[in-house]
Amino acid sequence: MTDIILRTINLTKRYKNRLAVDHLNIEVRQGEIFGFLGPNGAGKSTTIRMILRLIFPTEGDVEIFGASLKEAGHRALERVGAVVEKPAFYGHLSALRNMEILGGLQKPVSRRKIMKYLERVELADRAGDPVKTYSHGMNQRLGLALILLKEPQLIILDEPTTGLDPQGMKEVRELILELSRERGVTVLLSSHLLYEVEMIATRMAIIHHGRLRVEGSVNDLLKKGPSGVLIKADRPAEAIQFLKTNESYRSARIHSDGGINIELDQDSIPELNRQLVNAGFNIKALVPQRSLETYFLNLIEGHEGADNP
Ligand code: ADP
Ligand code: MG
Repeated sequence: MTDIILRTINLTKRYKNRLAVDHLNIEVRQGEIFGFLGPNGAGKSTTIRMILRLIFPTEGDVEIFGASLKEAGHRALERVGAVVEKPAFYGHLSALRNMEILGGLQKPVSRRKIMKYLERVELADRAGDPVKTYSHGMNQRLGLALILLKEPQLIILDEPTTGLDPQGMKEVRELILELSRERGVTVLLSSHLLYEVEMIATRMAIIHHGRLRVEGSVNDLLKKGPSGVLIKADRPAEAIQFLKTNESYRSARIHSDGGINIELDQDSIPELNRQLVNAGFNIKALVPQRSLETYFLNLIEGHEGADNP
């Protein structure tokens, strides 16, 4: 199977008695944008750091372009470009100079090539400005330009949009999509936001407590229709007590933001609404939720329900 670009094999990392990553098996295929989704602390960064050989697994291995990381070491990463943390640049130097220095560590790179990639990430007009004057979004884009110099076939990004404002998030997302389309480059990106993964990924895996929970095509996973509802009501704590008295609303759960989530048939929403209103609750919103959304929300809140969405 040559179309598998990256595979983790029982990849495991133990910190003292905490299993950060627990026998993880995921596969990233040629040309796809693979979303690696999980709540904070799920083990995403630890996995990515093992893939990039920044830390060593306690157990297991990674295969990249068919080569075992254990056997091939850094050579397995030749075709890989990655941005794992906020990229570190020399703040007082220009983007151009940073690219020359950091991009030319192995062999010198031409200004023409550097400008081509700075243009690609829409930083050409700021190429001469010191990087310390850049916004967080511009920093992320510069990080991407830097790895593009290497013309990687697999790009690995750990939470590329975290900390960006909505506009910055959109720009980075669009850039990733375009790179994937233009160059056919394969992308593995992590996120703790389902909607973000939905927007750009073709396949995804969800991990929690270091373990794989779901893996599949984003379309297939999302096809599983609506299966619940999110209620925004005043006095949520009382509302949930009221709901729990009814057998049909047994699954009602309150989330940390005060929203109440119930697994139920969409046809039952009007009746649910009537009952809440009749009982004197003000309903601000009733939002249908797809099964994956409900599932992911429950994972985040630490309700360990069924292992399938
Ligand atoms: P994510 O990136 O999904 O938010 P991480 O991979 O950073 O999650 O962390 C997974 C788990 O491993 C967390 O419980 C975290 O506290 C723990 N962890 C991460 N790095 C270390 C470390 N160097 N030492 C001890 N525990 C760690
Ligand atoms: Mg992380």
